[in-house]
Amino acid sequence: MIELRNVSKSYGRSGTMPALAQTSVLFERGQFVWISGPSGSGKSTLLGIGALLLRSDSGDVIFDGKKVDAEGSSERDRLRRRSVGIVPQSSRLFPELTASQNVMLARRRSSVVDAVSALDRVGLGEFAHRKTKTLSGGQQQRVSIARALAKKPAAVFADEVSSSLDDQNAESVYRLLRALADDGRIVVAASHDHRIEAFVTSRLMLESAT
Ligand code: ADP
Repeated sequence: MIELRNVSKSYGRSGTMPALAQTSVLFERGQFVWISGPSGSGKSTLLGIGALLLRSDSGDVIFDGKKVDAEGSSERDRLRRRSVGIVPQSSRLFPELTASQNVMLARRRSSVVDAVSALDRVGLGEFAHRKTKTLSGGQQQRVSIARALAKKPAAVFADEVSSSLDDQNAESVYRLLRALADDGRIVVAASHDHRIEAFVTSRLMLESAT
């Protein structure tokens, strides 16, 4: 369980650019939560705080019963590395490396067997030894998800994963994210793509901060 209680965050030298104000949300295992809202409403900021990548200015982040803000940043980093899989906005794969090599980069001590198993989970086992530059956009996005899954995270956070994909590829990515939630993980996706709606279990709508 990950809970954000009244979290706020501003950017700028003296915190003059509010990005997120007094926001509370509870993410539970088995949920696939869609964070929606216009551009600039704080979706990525909320995702970053929940994924323990960003620190809020105020409020509490509680991760499996533990107040994370009370911890030092090294403890937060350790918790994120162990428990959180992050699927970045644009696929950051190495095109000349194979799918399994890309997945193996996610962990310090990783094996080909684990990488192929993560690729199997996203339906790409047979593409494990293909260079990622030869895969379609949808397949590449699924390799990114496999990379996030390689450490068997309790929670997966995805930022605008499939806005640029065609309907068929977007659907396969959303179906996969839903299956990961059905397996008992927390899955949170920030997106302005309404095609995701049919696959999520709940939605959090952010409003423009200004
Ligand atoms: P969204 O994902 O909904 O587009 P963001 O969380 O990216 O929203 O941004 C919320 C607000 O915070 C925007 O006004 C954005 O310009 C600002 N912002 C986001 N990241 C930074 C940053 N690193 N430095 C300064 N301002 C930022």
